[in-house]
Amino acid sequence: MHDIPRLLDRLEALHGRAERRLAVDPLDELVACILSQHTSDINTARAFEGLRRAFPSWEAVAQAPAESVADAIRCGGLADTKAPRIQAVLRAVAARFGRMDLADLDAWPTPEARAFLMGLPGVGPKTAAIVLCFAMGRPVLPVDTHVFRVSWQLGLVPKQAGEARAHDLLQPLVPDELVYRFHIALIRHGRAVCRAQRPRCGECPLASVCPVGEAMVSGLPDPSADARLQGSHPQPGA
Ligand code: SF4
Repeated sequence: MHDIPRLLDRLEALHGRAERRLAVDPLDELVACILSQHTSDINTARAFEGLRRAFPSWEAVAQAPAESVADAIRCGGLADTKAPRIQAVLRAVAARFGRMDLADLDAWPTPEARAFLMGLPGVGPKTAAIVLCFAMGRPVLPVDTHVFRVSWQLGLVPKQAGEARAHDLLQPLVPDELVYRFHIALIRHGRAVCRAQRPRCGECPLASVCPVGEAMVSGLPDPSADARLQGSHPQPGA
């Protein structure tokens, strides 16, 4: 079993320690997550700004024709899919809380809040975890492409589990107080060192505890080479 605090120490020595960002409104975060599906951070921000500029409130977004909402978020891609999804989520939130606001969710225990979010249209474990972790300060681990790839390379989860199930497998391994920093550290490592194509194992501070890094040092075949050749990109999380 990996020692998560030690892994994190090594990663933060290389990439720096993440400080928790200022809290954002949970409903804003939820809408932004939907907008972020299959697009870049820059386009997500542009689409979110476009939506906020075009409509004075979330109520106005929910009541508008779907085509108008799609037009406002066109720069984020998949607008005709995301617009009705956002509207359905907003209506579901209003139906549960009597207003388009997730503030009341703050009083809920984390498992119930997670279950509610995952019951919203088109919301999966990654989106629910992002809202809980980033907007509500809960120790829930979002597993994105980078977190998942580094985790299965290290042997923390089986690759076959896929991103969605990796949420349930990784969460119990990470102490609550380290969840946010662990999430950020793995993203930074996945982008800079443990990349999908040609991970830079020679520069990796985890090489001595990683099956791939150990194989490299000992001269054995890279155990993940087949996986990479077959396409190691995990399925996009929801
Ligand atoms: S040793 Fe290589 S495969 Fe393992 S975590 Fe580091 S970069 Fe990734």
